This record gives sequence, C-alpha cells and structure tokens, in this order.
Amino acid sequence: MTDGKVTGGDAVVVGGGLAGITAALALADAGVRVTLLEGRPRLGGLAFSFQRGDLTVDNGQHVYLRCCTAYRWFLDRIEASALAPLQDRLDVPVLDLAKPEGRRLGRIRRDPLPVPLHLGRSLAAYPHLSLTERAAVGRAALALKGLDLDDPALDEQDFGSWLAAHGQSPRAVEALWNLVGVATLNAVADDASLGLAAMVFKTGLLSDPGAADIGWAHVPLGELHDRLARKALDSAGVRTEVRTRVTSISPDENGRWAVQVPGESLSADAVVLAVAQSEAHDLLPAGALDDPDRLLEIGTAPILNVHVVYDRPVLSAPFFAALGTPVQWVFDRTASSGLREGQYLAVSQSAAHDDIDAPVARLRERYLPELARLLPLAREAGVKDFFVTRERTATFAPTPGVGRLRPGTRTKAPGLYLAGAWTATGWPATMESAVRSGVSAADAALGALGRPRPRHLFDVEEAA
Ligand SMILES: Cc1cc2nc3c(=O)[nH]c(=O)nc-3n(C[C@H](O)[C@H](O)[C@H](O)COP(=O)(O)OP(=O)(O)OC[C@H]3O[C@@H](n4cnc5c(N)ncnc54)[C@H](O)[C@@H]3O)c2cc1C
Repeated sequence: MTDGKVTGGDAVVVGGGLAGITAALALADAGVRVTLLEGRPRLGGLAFSFQRGDLTVDNGQHVYLRCCTAYRWFLDRIEASALAPLQDRLDVPVLDLAKPEGRRLGRIRRDPLPVPLHLGRSLAAYPHLSLTERAAVGRAALALKGLDLDDPALDEQDFGSWLAAHGQSPRAVEALWNLVGVATLNAVADDASLGLAAMVFKTGLLSDPGAADIGWAHVPLGELHDRLARKALDSAGVRTEVRTRVTSISPDENGRWAVQVPGESLSADAVVLAVAQSEAHDLLPAGALDDPDRLLEIGTAPILNVHVVYDRPVLSAPFFAALGTPVQWVFDRTASSGLREGQYLAVSQSAAHDDIDAPVARLRERYLPELARLLPLAREAGVKDFFVTRERTATFAPTPGVGRLRPGTRTKAPGLYLAGAWTATGWPATMESAVRSGVSAADAALGALGRPRPRHLFDVEEAA
C-alpha cells in the first residue's frame, strides 16, 4: 500500500449483516475477489429469523419506508422486492385507549396531493388531538421543514425541547411525534437528537408525498437477508463463510491486511469492517482512528418484541399503532410465520428500557390484558403460545451529540473501511443506514483499488 492506494483486488468483508452483505455484493459486482466472514451461523445480522417449533419467528418486526431508497435497491439486488412490498398509500390505523368512553380509531394516511397537503386532511381529521393541537402540529411541521439538516448544531439539541418550544402539548408529542419517532428513532423525543429526528420527519413526511408509505417482509426476514442474500452473493462469486469469527485484523509485512479467523489467516488488499461499534473498537488496529474509544461512547437502545399466538383470528388489519396503553405497534405475522390455525401477533416495543429485562411472566401479565383491551376478539380467544425476543443493543441510541461520535467509512489505515448502521450515514440505525454504509465502504474501497463502480450500484451521493 502506498499513497493511500492499494493495488490488486482481494477484499475481506467482516460481518454479514446488511452493511456487510451490501459491501460484499458491491465489491464483487466490480470484479473484486471477495470473502465475507460472519461469526454467526447465518447472514442478516440484527434482522433475522429462527424456528420455534413449526413457527418461523423474526427476532423483531422490521419495516421500511418508500424513502428508504438504498434498502429498496438492496431488495432489488437480491431479487426480494416482491416479498417485501410497500403499501400503495400510507395508511396507519391508530387505536387510542385513553378515552373514558373506550377505544377510538384514528388513521394517519395520505391523499394523492403534493407535500404538505398530502397529510393535511388526515391531520385535520385526526381524532386523537384537539383542533388547537392539530393546528399546532401543522405549524411545527412547517418549522421542521425549514430546518437545515446540514447544520451540526441541530444534533446537539433534543427533539423534545424543540417540540415544546414549538407549541407541542404533551398529548401531541405522545399521539403523533412519538408515535412515529419512537418507532423510527428508537427513542422518545426527549432522548433524541433534533438533527436525526428532523431528518426522519423531513425525509419521511415532508419530502415526497409517497415517502412514508410503509413496506415490510411478507415472508420471514431470514428468507430475504439470509437465503436470498446468500444466493445473490454466491452468484456474484463471493466466498461466504458463516460461523467464522474474525479475531484480529493487522497489516502484514507485504503491505496487505492479515485477517485472522480460527485456523486461517486471510490476506486482503481491502478490508471492510461491518460489525457493531463495540466489536469494531476491539478489532481496529492501532492508529486506524484518532480516538477509537469514542466508538464506545455511542450508546445503545433496546427493542422488545412480544409474540402471541391466539387460537383464532383477533385482528383483521395487517398492523396498527396504539395510544393510551404500553402497547406500541402490533403486526399480524400469521402468514409469514407459517402458522396454519389461529393468529400470530408480534407486538413491537421500541425504546423498551423498562421492559427489556422483565421476566416473561411479568410481560405476559402486562401485555395480554392490554391486547384484550385493544382487540375485543382477543378477550374470548385462547393463547396458545406467548414468548418474547429481546434485543438489548438493537440500535445505537440517537441521543443529542451522537453525530460527533459516528465515524465515516474511511479510517486512517489505507485499505481499511468501516460500515454499519451506526457509522456516519446521516440516518438513524435502520436497514437503510446499514445498506448506505455498505455502499459507501465499497465505493471508498473501489476508489482505492482503482476499480470503476458498478453502474447499477446505489448512488449515496445522488440520493442524498
Ligand atoms: C428488534 C429490532 C427491530 C428493528 N426494527 C427495524 C425496522 O423496523 N426498520 C429498520 O430499518 N431497522 C430496524 N432495526 C435496525 C436494523 O436491523 C439494523 O440497523 C441493521 O440490521 C444493522 O445492520 P448492520 O449490518 O449495520 O449491523 P448488524 O446487523 O449488527 O451486523 C453485524 C454482523 O457482524 C457480525 N460480527 C460481529 N463481530 C464479528 C466478528 N468478529 N467476525 C465476524 N462477524 C462478526 C455479527 O454477527 C452481525 O451479523 C431493528 C433492529 C432490531 C434488533
């Protein structure tokens, strides 16, 4: 390696989550010989499936939005778009239990009108806010639209204070801003960076009319991120090794990288390190970052999924969001799980700090009655199975100031690149961020290897 340029064409990608898979595909598509190393027995990282008897279970419900252009590119690249379709038009049923008179249904949906009118009718009719609150939400949305996302000062402020300063009542924060924000940022407004929150709301709700249309896998996540990703990697010529944990990365005497796995040392011109931030910290060779300990200052946030199998159908919609109850979002997973009788619901609880370590019995006592309050048919139904999946470090915590801590893809070590949803993509910890980071790492590596980028590769710059 000289002058930051490397010669040759071998790359090793460490980590088979969405960031690593993307980087491996992009490099292989450019003609680089790629080995992808994943410590676990499967690809997909934080978005995966497992078997529980006859049931195929996702570790956590995942959704994406139409504005997630990189993840949509990824789905196309692995020939999976048809398996994770988008709604034709944003439509979120929101059930409120807070009113003494009982359940009340509202909807967040869009009309075929330009921004911001596309949400105007829905907001005007949103029954979970007073007229005054709805008008104030409209004004805050316009103020949010005017924020300059390139202003680093935004990242230092918290979203909750900004909302309060812009006339948002606690009820408006709960019934609207947190309803969307907690699910997308994995933090309540008070704990979230204004920069990241503004990015999410501007991109999702205030850019293109269809930007917030929701998509989700109609098959198990593993079908997409493991089986079909693996198929695409194989066709692209990537050597993929699962159950292969990298123990060190160091420069060798020939100016290449030596990537150590049990029983083998791989030699590479370029290495993409696409693992979580704490693991990146442990694997980075000395001098690769000015202050590697900053990676450890990036906090993490949990997501809990509560899974309930009923002996009969209790919900007719594919999903809904809830207010006035600890329940946040509920998805029907019956068809995708392979369940033949009854109905399987997944309750997705973001920023689940209070529940993440609670015993299953306590979660059962807490969530089953709430589901019965939300879904009258669940009151009569029998519960055939109840279990939880806990992801204690589901995402990085999008706290104010986190932007300063997120490194870019390039390190100070030529030929060594970082990827992962937690790197500086401008997005919160999402599948979109992971794919973008993988593309950026591949782009940087291709530049250094002197290889042209594949024409079909997603263009992070152009999309920004
Ligand atoms: C429950 C849950 C719900 C979520 N919901 C959504 C959602 O609705 N929408 C959305 O967009 N995002 C969601 N996310 C976030 C999304 O899943 C992640 O942001 C994304 O999958 C991260 O991908 P990644 O490749 O950056 O990292 P990871 O998925 O963490 O991949 C890193 C990989 O590196 C491997 N690895 C680590 N160390 C080594 C080593 N030494 N050697 C070899 N391999 C190693 C790991 O095993 C892992 O497979 C959710 C996450 C969770 C957990």
